[in-house]
Amino acid sequence: MVWLFDLDNTLHDASYAIFPAINAQMTAYVARVLGCDEATASRVRVDYWQRYGATLLGMIRHHGVDPAEFLHAAHDFPELASMVRVQRGLARMLRRLPGRKVLLTNAPQEYARAVLRVAGIERMFERVVAIEQMWVHGELRPKPDRRMLRHWLARIGVDPSRAVLVEDTVSHLKRYQGLGIRTAWITGYLRTLTPSRPHAAPAGETRDAATQAVLDAERERHRHAAGEAAHAAQEHAVALVAAETQAPQPRRLKRANPAHRPRYVHIKVQSSNQLHRRMRGIGS
Ligand SMILES: [Mg+2]
Repeated sequence: MVWLFDLDNTLHDASYAIFPAINAQMTAYVARVLGCDEATASRVRVDYWQRYGATLLGMIRHHGVDPAEFLHAAHDFPELASMVRVQRGLARMLRRLPGRKVLLTNAPQEYARAVLRVAGIERMFERVVAIEQMWVHGELRPKPDRRMLRHWLARIGVDPSRAVLVEDTVSHLKRYQGLGIRTAWITGYLRTLTPSRPHAAPAGETRDAATQAVLDAERERHRHAAGEAAHAAQEHAVALVAAETQAPQPRRLKRANPAHRPRYVHIKVQSSNQLHRRMRGIGS
């Protein structure tokens, strides 16, 4: 058996401090690129999020930002040790869980490794597959891309029927149905706030004069920009980066109730620590 573990909100509680910090860093990055204050940047983010499903897509379309640079800027944590919250016994659980373990995350490699180190579980994983490792045939294809998953299952050398994807994002598990992999849904860390979803803005306040001026100016620039085709290609390449954060998350569930388990979810637990007990659910 090979366990493919997601990182954020699967192995640790990212909603506790890390997702809010990613949010703040994304807003600061947008303010820097646009040369505006953070309140305006925040409203621009809401606009991008509503139009494209992710801040990143708007930043690429209108400002030609490099996705890697954007993601790294949003994952800069000198104080990471105090921000990672892990359930007690996680390392022990991973050690006892029979089978190989691979980390499969849409986050950057350096951040992923730093979180594993802080959590004391880095050695449990034979490989960290991060966003930088999700290029397939020249296109960035993060989760929930099917081609990327098949590619990595082949590289790891495991038949889909012997792989279990452990995730908090249920829409990823849904996208992978039919591939033959098993799935485990971690529900305990779900919150409504996700990194590229800006804080909800009250209706009617998303387009004040300053925000509108920024948006108008860049729309004008965009219209006159050369290389529209290149833009389109780049947008296509990163369209999938936004997939995770676009997906509507179910409301936080108080208890993992097997009765409310979608068909494509083989085991549903509150935390990774409960996987061990529920392994029979995936037929091992
Ligand atoms: Mg996650």
